[in-house]
Amino acid sequence: MRQTLDFLFHHWLGVHTLLQRPRFADHSLETFGSVLDTCQRIAADKFAPFNRLSDTQEPHFDGHKVHLPPETHAALAAYVQSGMLAAAQDYELGGMQLPCVIEMAANAFFSKASVALGGYAMLTSGNANLLMAHGTPLQREVFAKNEFAGRWFGTMCLSEPQAGSSLSDVATRAVPDGADFEADPLGPRYRLRGNKMWISAGEHELTENIVHLVLAKIPGPDGKLVPGTRGISLFIVPKWLVNEQAELTGERNDVALAGLNHKLGYRGTTNTLLNFGEGRFPVRGGSASNLGAIGYRVGAPGDGLRCMFHMMNEARIGVGLGAVMLGYAGYEASLDYARTRPQGRPMAAPSSDSRPITGSGKDATQPQVPLIQHADIKRMLLAQKAYCEGGLALSLYCARLVDELHTGSPADSAEAGTLLEVLTPIAKSWPSEWCLEANSLAIQVHGGYGYTRDFPVEQHWRDNRLNMIHEGTHGIQGLDLLGRKVVMNGGAGLKLLATRISSTTQRAGQVQGLAEPANQLAGALQALGAATKAAWATGVPEEALANATPYLQAFGHVVLAWLWLDVALAVQGHGDAAAPVGAILPAPQQQGKLAAMHYFFAYELPKVDAWLSVVRSREPVCRLMHEDGF
Ligand SMILES: Cc1cc2nc3c(=O)[nH]c(=O)nc-3n(C[C@H](O)[C@H](O)[C@H](O)COP(=O)(O)OP(=O)(O)OC[C@H]3O[C@@H](n4cnc5c(N)ncnc54)[C@H](O)[C@@H]3O)c2cc1C
Repeated sequence: MRQTLDFLFHHWLGVHTLLQRPRFADHSLETFGSVLDTCQRIAADKFAPFNRLSDTQEPHFDGHKVHLPPETHAALAAYVQSGMLAAAQDYELGGMQLPCVIEMAANAFFSKASVALGGYAMLTSGNANLLMAHGTPLQREVFAKNEFAGRWFGTMCLSEPQAGSSLSDVATRAVPDGADFEADPLGPRYRLRGNKMWISAGEHELTENIVHLVLAKIPGPDGKLVPGTRGISLFIVPKWLVNEQAELTGERNDVALAGLNHKLGYRGTTNTLLNFGEGRFPVRGGSASNLGAIGYRVGAPGDGLRCMFHMMNEARIGVGLGAVMLGYAGYEASLDYARTRPQGRPMAAPSSDSRPITGSGKDATQPQVPLIQHADIKRMLLAQKAYCEGGLALSLYCARLVDELHTGSPADSAEAGTLLEVLTPIAKSWPSEWCLEANSLAIQVHGGYGYTRDFPVEQHWRDNRLNMIHEGTHGIQGLDLLGRKVVMNGGAGLKLLATRISSTTQRAGQVQGLAEPANQLAGALQALGAATKAAWATGVPEEALANATPYLQAFGHVVLAWLWLDVALAVQGHGDAAAPVGAILPAPQQQGKLAAMHYFFAYELPKVDAWLSVVRSREPVCRLMHEDGF
């Protein structure tokens, strides 16, 4: 993986060009490389050996505290010490001012080693980043800074038992805490009451405090909650109250663990149902036990969802990259297995053998061959390679766009923003679906052994299965893409993407061996544009969006075919981001990348036709299916 990462950085993404920007001027390719080296080492030493342990020794609640294995504490302590929580932040905040693309790649090593152990850190930096964007100076100083330092960890509390995909139905209430509620230096102070479901890292003893970021509604003058998302505000609700100097006051806030969820995978990250303000820990209330949990508003009333979604591009790219890394872990495990497990005979006798070729592969006088020599095993390995390396290219391309958005010229920044609108649903959902499929193939390569807990691949699949569910389910990503992203601003995002894809197909059309895939991709792009129009031809959302998920799949495959073709150009030395250092790749790896690209065009891209055909015709069978017919 590291070789591929370095290749993509230096020969495809032109990471060296970032060094010319003032924000990254103190860095060099060497400092970028040493961050990657350090993270790779810590992940290998402190995370990977305990990945299985964190799965088998699930978090346990004794009624007072949640217990995690000591190895989880040690892994997170090592992560905190690495400084990675604040890696992208300003130097004044203890950060390293790393570009997003380097930060994400460095964190990818942790996801690959143990995605569940890494979960606490990802949530904490996401939470603190949000406060940096929307918090007051004191909220940043007290909460974000201590999260970046790893003194406190953070959560994101959006979901409720009755409000998952539909956050407009959030029912947690926040009422002003006294007449002077606006005078609190930590922010307008409220009392919150409600239940939050599925909260990752919602309870543990890893840090002395937990900073919950909670979505809740402030009732109107009639005492009723404002319907829809407009009524949602955002609050900091610390588990233990703190003062302006960020010292714990010793007061336990009324946030109580109602129970732990027992999950299919990702078991090392606690997952909780939290009760806010139900009186389990009455706080600053005298005899009134259920006044509510104390929370400090972030941003304006009613602006909570916007604040929360501000960080979504990065969070969703991060989820996609996590899915890629789980795919990679399975790919590497199944590759090792396929190289060492002897099973079956070759179809053809060796060329030195004069006997006629039987074609049966059943000549028992021949020695067994390693699995990797069978064409069907190579098919499954190539599929995994195409999904995982393609997914890595997608994630890093999007992370590089985030850098462009924040530090590029005004024109480049605007373009990056437009592209990210359409690519973010793909960055999240494509790896979640196809790198999960890679995990399934990794199990298949192992045969029966893959289905046991003696090999790691079943855990990879279980861990990865989450990614199509959280951070916006697969279905919701499809609705967002076809219902909003490709039609907003007159379809500007799709048009810009089409321009970039066409630039690649034109360049590839001139290169030997790439002209045919270039043609194929140009055709698929045209079909995608036509299907987008056809889906909306009647202007009826119900008709257009009934096939939003096949649309998402087709769109994703077109994007991945484009990225693979572009990477193939770079492999052959026709990239437009040549690095000042390093040879391209050793010949076998070059051949491997080109084979994975050809695999994608031969086996995957043709699926686009089937997906788009139901989109084009606005196929109504699902939409019109009578509920009683099931
Ligand atoms: C392990 C885990 C960790 C999580 N961590 C967190 C966390 O830290 N913080 C947090 O706030 N949340 C967290 N979540 C919650 C997660 O974001 C939700 O599970 C997710 O948003 C889906 O909500 P739901 O489970 O209520 O499913 P539902 O919203 O009920 O969806 C069920 C199915 O219906 C589909 N569906 C729903 N609405 C529509 C529609 N309008 N049109 C078409 N299809 C629809 C969905 O796509 C899905 O397939 C976590 C969940 C899990 C499982």
